[in-house]
Amino acid sequence: MQSAHYTGRFAPSPSGPLHAGSLVAAMASYLDARAHQGRWLLRMEDVDEARTVQGAAQDIAASLSQLGMHWDGPVLVQSRRQQHYQRACAQLGERVYACGCTRKEIADSRLGIAADGAAIYPGTCRSGLAAGKRAHALRVRVPEPGQALEQIDFEDRWQGWQRQHLASAVGDFVLRRADGFWAYQLAVVVDDAEQGVTHIVRGADLLGSTARQIYLQSLLGYPTPTYLHLPLVTHADGEKLSKQNGAQALDLNQPLTLLHEAARFLGLEVARVDGVAAFWELAVLAWRRRYL
Ligand code: GLU
Repeated sequence: MQSAHYTGRFAPSPSGPLHAGSLVAAMASYLDARAHQGRWLLRMEDVDEARTVQGAAQDIAASLSQLGMHWDGPVLVQSRRQQHYQRACAQLGERVYACGCTRKEIADSRLGIAADGAAIYPGTCRSGLAAGKRAHALRVRVPEPGQALEQIDFEDRWQGWQRQHLASAVGDFVLRRADGFWAYQLAVVVDDAEQGVTHIVRGADLLGSTARQIYLQSLLGYPTPTYLHLPLVTHADGEKLSKQNGAQALDLNQPLTLLHEAARFLGLEVARVDGVAAFWELAVLAWRRRYL
Protein backbone atom coordinates (compact mmCIF):
# COMPACT_ATOMS: atom_id res chain seq x y z
CA MET A 1 0.00 0.00 0.00
CA GLN A 2 1.52 3.34 -1.02
CA SER A 3 0.00 5.33 1.79
CA ALA A 4 1.82 8.54 2.64
CA HIS A 5 1.69 10.38 -0.64
CA TYR A 6 -1.61 9.05 -1.97
CA THR A 7 -3.75 11.96 -3.17
CA GLY A 8 -7.19 11.33 -4.59
CA ARG A 9 -10.00 13.66 -5.49
CA PHE A 10 -13.66 14.05 -6.33
CA ALA A 11 -14.22 16.51 -9.15
CA PRO A 12 -17.93 17.12 -9.78
CA SER A 13 -19.26 19.55 -12.36
CA PRO A 14 -21.66 21.79 -10.46
CA SER A 15 -24.47 21.56 -12.97
CA GLY A 16 -26.94 20.24 -10.39
CA PRO A 17 -27.10 18.51 -7.00
CA LEU A 18 -25.32 15.29 -6.11
CA HIS A 19 -27.25 12.28 -7.52
CA ALA A 20 -26.95 8.52 -7.17
CA GLY A 21 -24.27 8.33 -9.90
CA SER A 22 -22.07 11.09 -8.55
CA LEU A 23 -22.50 9.74 -5.01
CA VAL A 24 -20.99 6.43 -6.17
CA ALA A 25 -17.99 8.25 -7.69
CA ALA A 26 -17.57 10.35 -4.54
CA MET A 27 -17.82 7.29 -2.31
CA ALA A 28 -15.37 5.14 -4.25
CA SER A 29 -12.77 7.90 -4.53
CA TYR A 30 -13.18 8.68 -0.83
CA LEU A 31 -12.90 5.04 0.24
CA ASP A 32 -9.86 4.41 -1.93
CA ALA A 33 -8.14 7.47 -0.46
CA ARG A 34 -9.00 6.61 3.13
CA ALA A 35 -8.11 2.93 2.65
CA HIS A 36 -4.65 4.13 1.54
CA GLN A 37 -4.52 6.65 4.40
CA GLY A 38 -4.27 9.25 1.69
CA ARG A 39 -5.65 12.72 1.11
CA TRP A 40 -9.00 13.29 -0.59
CA LEU A 41 -9.49 16.62 -2.32
CA LEU A 42 -12.57 18.32 -3.69
CA ARG A 43 -12.51 20.26 -6.93
CA MET A 44 -15.44 22.05 -8.53
CA GLU A 45 -15.20 21.58 -12.29
CA ASP A 46 -17.14 24.64 -13.35
CA VAL A 47 -14.86 25.38 -16.30
CA ASP A 48 -17.88 25.06 -18.58
CA GLU A 49 -19.57 28.10 -17.12
CA ALA A 50 -22.52 27.72 -19.47
CA ARG A 51 -23.50 24.49 -17.68
CA THR A 52 -22.86 25.72 -14.16
CA VAL A 53 -25.95 26.09 -12.02
CA GLN A 54 -25.96 28.82 -9.41
CA GLY A 55 -25.62 27.35 -5.93
CA ALA A 56 -24.90 23.77 -7.11
CA ALA A 57 -21.27 23.80 -5.90
CA GLN A 58 -22.31 24.81 -2.38
CA ASP A 59 -25.10 22.27 -2.50
CA ILE A 60 -22.77 19.41 -3.49
CA ALA A 61 -20.26 20.37 -0.80
CA ALA A 62 -23.01 20.50 1.84
CA SER A 63 -24.31 17.08 0.76
CA LEU A 64 -20.85 15.54 1.00
CA SER A 65 -20.45 16.93 4.51
CA GLN A 66 -23.85 15.69 5.55
CA LEU A 67 -22.96 12.23 4.25
CA GLY A 68 -19.73 12.29 6.27
CA MET A 69 -17.31 12.70 3.36
CA HIS A 70 -14.89 15.32 4.62
CA TRP A 71 -12.33 16.59 2.15
CA ASP A 72 -8.82 17.76 2.90
CA GLY A 73 -7.65 21.30 2.25
CA PRO A 74 -9.36 24.06 0.29
CA VAL A 75 -11.78 23.40 -2.58
CA LEU A 76 -10.22 24.18 -5.96
CA VAL A 77 -12.58 26.06 -8.28
CA GLN A 78 -11.80 25.84 -11.99
CA SER A 79 -13.49 29.06 -13.05
CA ARG A 80 -10.85 30.95 -11.05
CA ARG A 81 -7.94 29.26 -12.76
CA GLN A 82 -8.07 30.51 -16.34
CA GLN A 83 -4.51 31.81 -16.31
CA HIS A 84 -3.16 28.39 -15.35
CA TYR A 85 -4.90 26.79 -18.34
CA GLN A 86 -3.66 29.61 -20.54
CA ARG A 87 -0.09 29.01 -19.39
CA ALA A 88 -0.27 25.25 -19.98
CA CYS A 89 -1.71 25.83 -23.43
CA ALA A 90 1.11 28.26 -24.24
CA GLN A 91 3.61 25.64 -23.04
CA LEU A 92 2.37 23.29 -25.76
CA GLY A 93 3.66 25.78 -28.35
CA GLU A 94 3.51 24.69 -31.98
CA ARG A 95 1.42 21.68 -31.16
CA VAL A 96 -1.58 23.95 -30.68
CA TYR A 97 -3.36 25.55 -33.61
CA ALA A 98 -6.43 27.66 -34.25
CA CYS A 99 -9.36 25.92 -35.86
CA GLY A 100 -12.09 27.66 -37.82
CA CYS A 101 -14.33 24.65 -38.50
CA THR A 102 -17.93 24.63 -37.40
CA ARG A 103 -19.44 21.61 -35.73
CA LYS A 104 -21.43 20.92 -38.88
CA GLU A 105 -18.34 20.98 -41.10
CA ILE A 106 -16.63 18.47 -38.82
CA ALA A 107 -19.69 16.22 -38.70
CA ASP A 108 -19.95 16.38 -42.51
CA SER A 109 -16.48 14.90 -42.86
CA ARG A 110 -17.95 11.66 -41.44
CA LEU A 111 -14.83 10.27 -39.83
CA GLY A 112 -16.95 8.87 -37.06
CA ILE A 113 -17.78 9.70 -33.49
CA ALA A 114 -15.26 9.68 -30.64
CA ALA A 115 -15.98 8.00 -27.29
CA ASP A 116 -17.28 11.24 -25.78
CA GLY A 117 -19.81 11.75 -28.55
CA ALA A 118 -17.91 14.44 -30.49
CA ALA A 119 -17.23 13.94 -34.20
CA ILE A 120 -13.63 12.95 -34.98
CA TYR A 121 -11.71 15.94 -36.29
CA PRO A 122 -10.30 15.49 -39.82
CA GLY A 123 -7.39 17.94 -39.33
CA THR A 124 -8.71 20.56 -41.76
CA CYS A 125 -6.99 23.55 -40.09
CA ARG A 126 -3.75 21.75 -39.20
CA SER A 127 -1.61 23.70 -41.60
CA GLY A 128 -3.37 27.02 -41.18
CA LEU A 129 -6.85 28.47 -41.34
CA ALA A 130 -8.41 28.21 -44.76
CA ALA A 131 -9.11 31.56 -46.45
CA GLY A 132 -12.18 33.28 -45.07
CA LYS A 133 -12.27 31.23 -41.86
CA ARG A 134 -12.17 32.80 -38.44
CA ALA A 135 -10.49 31.05 -35.52
CA HIS A 136 -13.12 29.36 -33.33
CA ALA A 137 -11.28 26.94 -31.11
CA LEU A 138 -7.74 25.88 -30.20
CA ARG A 139 -6.79 22.28 -30.90
CA VAL A 140 -3.76 20.17 -30.03
CA ARG A 141 -2.19 17.93 -32.67
CA VAL A 142 -2.19 14.23 -31.92
CA PRO A 143 0.78 12.15 -33.11
CA GLU A 144 0.98 10.93 -36.67
CA PRO A 145 1.65 7.30 -37.51
CA GLY A 146 5.10 6.30 -36.36
CA GLN A 147 5.47 9.19 -33.90
CA ALA A 148 5.91 8.78 -30.15
CA LEU A 149 2.68 8.48 -28.14
CA GLU A 150 0.77 7.51 -31.27
CA GLN A 151 -0.94 4.95 -29.14
CA ILE A 152 -1.65 5.34 -25.44
CA ASP A 153 -1.69 2.26 -23.21
CA PHE A 154 -2.61 2.20 -19.56
CA GLU A 155 -3.86 -0.25 -17.00
CA ASP A 156 -7.13 0.65 -15.37
CA ARG A 157 -7.53 -0.82 -11.89
CA TRP A 158 -11.13 -1.84 -12.63
CA GLN A 159 -11.40 -2.14 -16.40
CA GLY A 160 -8.00 -3.73 -17.11
CA TRP A 161 -5.61 -2.85 -19.95
CA GLN A 162 -6.70 -0.08 -22.27
CA ARG A 163 -5.28 1.11 -25.54
CA GLN A 164 -6.31 4.10 -27.62
CA HIS A 165 -4.94 5.27 -30.91
CA LEU A 166 -5.50 9.00 -30.65
CA ALA A 167 -5.48 9.89 -34.34
CA SER A 168 -8.17 7.39 -35.33
CA ALA A 169 -10.20 7.48 -32.10
CA VAL A 170 -10.41 11.26 -31.50
CA GLY A 171 -8.18 13.28 -33.82
CA ASP A 172 -6.73 16.66 -32.86
CA PHE A 173 -8.82 17.69 -29.88
CA VAL A 174 -10.06 20.96 -28.46
CA LEU A 175 -8.21 22.75 -25.66
CA ARG A 176 -10.11 26.00 -25.84
CA ARG A 177 -13.64 25.96 -27.12
CA ALA A 178 -15.24 28.24 -29.66
CA ASP A 179 -17.20 29.94 -26.86
CA GLY A 180 -13.90 30.86 -25.16
CA PHE A 181 -14.10 28.36 -22.28
CA TRP A 182 -11.16 26.08 -21.61
CA ALA A 183 -11.92 22.46 -22.36
CA TYR A 184 -12.37 19.85 -19.64
CA GLN A 185 -9.47 17.76 -21.03
CA LEU A 186 -6.92 20.53 -20.44
CA ALA A 187 -8.34 21.83 -17.17
CA VAL A 188 -8.51 18.39 -15.54
CA VAL A 189 -4.89 17.60 -16.46
CA VAL A 190 -3.55 20.94 -15.21
CA ASP A 191 -5.50 20.69 -11.96
CA ASP A 192 -4.71 17.05 -11.22
CA ALA A 193 -1.02 17.92 -11.60
CA GLU A 194 -1.29 21.12 -9.56
CA GLN A 195 -3.06 19.28 -6.74
CA GLY A 196 -0.55 16.41 -6.82
CA VAL A 197 -3.26 13.84 -7.55
CA THR A 198 -1.75 10.35 -7.67
CA HIS A 199 -4.92 8.23 -7.94
CA ILE A 200 -8.02 8.96 -9.99
CA VAL A 201 -11.25 7.11 -9.26
CA ARG A 202 -14.22 8.18 -11.40
CA GLY A 203 -17.01 6.93 -13.63
CA ALA A 204 -16.45 4.82 -16.73
CA ASP A 205 -18.00 7.55 -18.89
CA LEU A 206 -14.52 9.14 -18.73
CA LEU A 207 -12.59 6.02 -19.75
CA GLY A 208 -12.43 7.24 -23.34
CA SER A 209 -10.98 10.60 -22.23
CA THR A 210 -8.10 9.11 -20.29
CA ALA A 211 -5.76 8.56 -23.25
CA ARG A 212 -6.08 12.26 -24.17
CA GLN A 213 -5.31 13.20 -20.60
CA ILE A 214 -2.26 10.93 -20.46
CA TYR A 215 -1.10 12.45 -23.75
CA LEU A 216 -1.37 16.00 -22.37
CA GLN A 217 0.40 14.94 -19.16
CA SER A 218 3.28 13.61 -21.25
CA LEU A 219 3.53 16.78 -23.33
CA LEU A 220 3.42 19.00 -20.26
CA GLY A 221 5.92 16.91 -18.28
CA TYR A 222 3.38 15.96 -15.57
CA PRO A 223 3.30 12.56 -13.88
CA THR A 224 0.50 10.19 -14.87
CA PRO A 225 -1.75 9.10 -11.98
CA THR A 226 -3.21 5.60 -11.70
CA TYR A 227 -6.80 5.24 -12.90
CA LEU A 228 -9.85 3.34 -11.75
CA HIS A 229 -13.03 3.76 -13.80
CA LEU A 230 -16.15 2.61 -11.99
CA PRO A 231 -19.14 0.99 -13.66
CA LEU A 232 -21.86 3.56 -14.28
CA VAL A 233 -25.10 3.85 -12.42
CA THR A 234 -27.76 3.67 -15.11
CA HIS A 235 -31.50 4.16 -15.49
CA ALA A 236 -33.54 1.00 -15.98
CA ASP A 237 -33.11 1.42 -19.77
CA GLY A 238 -29.32 1.34 -19.44
CA GLU A 239 -28.78 5.06 -20.03
CA LYS A 240 -26.22 6.74 -17.76
CA LEU A 241 -27.77 8.60 -14.86
CA SER A 242 -26.95 12.27 -15.21
CA LYS A 243 -28.27 15.66 -14.30
CA GLN A 244 -29.10 16.20 -17.95
CA ASN A 245 -31.50 13.29 -18.09
CA GLY A 246 -33.28 14.01 -14.89
CA ALA A 247 -31.40 12.09 -12.17
CA GLN A 248 -33.24 12.64 -8.89
CA ALA A 249 -31.64 14.74 -6.18
CA LEU A 250 -30.85 12.60 -3.15
CA ASP A 251 -32.99 12.52 -0.04
CA LEU A 252 -30.46 13.63 2.53
CA ASN A 253 -32.87 13.03 5.36
CA GLN A 254 -31.93 9.35 5.00
CA PRO A 255 -28.12 9.50 4.79
CA LEU A 256 -27.54 5.91 5.87
CA THR A 257 -29.98 4.54 3.31
CA LEU A 258 -28.17 6.44 0.57
CA LEU A 259 -24.77 5.30 1.77
CA HIS A 260 -25.78 1.66 1.98
CA GLU A 261 -27.28 1.76 -1.52
CA ALA A 262 -24.12 3.25 -3.00
CA ALA A 263 -21.96 0.73 -1.11
CA ARG A 264 -24.07 -2.14 -2.42
CA PHE A 265 -23.65 -0.85 -5.95
CA LEU A 266 -19.88 -0.97 -5.38
CA GLY A 267 -20.12 -4.58 -4.22
CA LEU A 268 -19.33 -3.73 -0.60
CA GLU A 269 -20.99 -5.49 2.28
CA VAL A 270 -21.37 -3.04 5.11
CA ALA A 271 -23.34 -4.11 8.18
CA ARG A 272 -26.20 -1.90 9.38
CA VAL A 273 -24.98 0.73 11.82
CA ASP A 274 -26.64 3.62 13.57
CA GLY A 275 -24.45 6.52 12.44
CA VAL A 276 -22.61 7.91 9.44
CA ALA A 277 -19.17 7.80 11.10
CA ALA A 278 -19.63 4.11 11.95
CA PHE A 279 -20.69 3.43 8.36
CA TRP A 280 -17.46 4.89 7.00
CA GLU A 281 -15.29 2.91 9.37
CA LEU A 282 -16.80 -0.33 8.15
CA ALA A 283 -16.92 0.78 4.51
CA VAL A 284 -13.19 1.58 4.46
CA LEU A 285 -12.46 -1.92 5.77
CA ALA A 286 -14.80 -3.45 3.19
CA TRP A 287 -13.16 -1.50 0.35
CA ARG A 288 -9.71 -2.53 1.54
CA ARG A 289 -10.72 -6.20 1.69
CA ARG A 290 -12.32 -6.15 -1.71
CA TYR A 291 -10.17 -3.83 -3.82
CA LEU A 292 -6.67 -3.40 -2.35
N1 GLU B 1 -16.21 16.87 -13.76
C1 GLU B 1 -16.37 15.55 -14.32
C2 GLU B 1 -17.79 15.08 -14.12
O1 GLU B 1 -18.47 15.54 -13.22
C3 GLU B 1 -15.46 14.52 -13.68
C4 GLU B 1 -14.05 14.75 -14.06
C5 GLU B 1 -13.07 13.73 -13.54
O2 GLU B 1 -13.32 13.05 -12.54
O3 GLU B 1 -12.02 13.65 -14.15
O4 GLU B 1 -18.22 14.22 -14.87
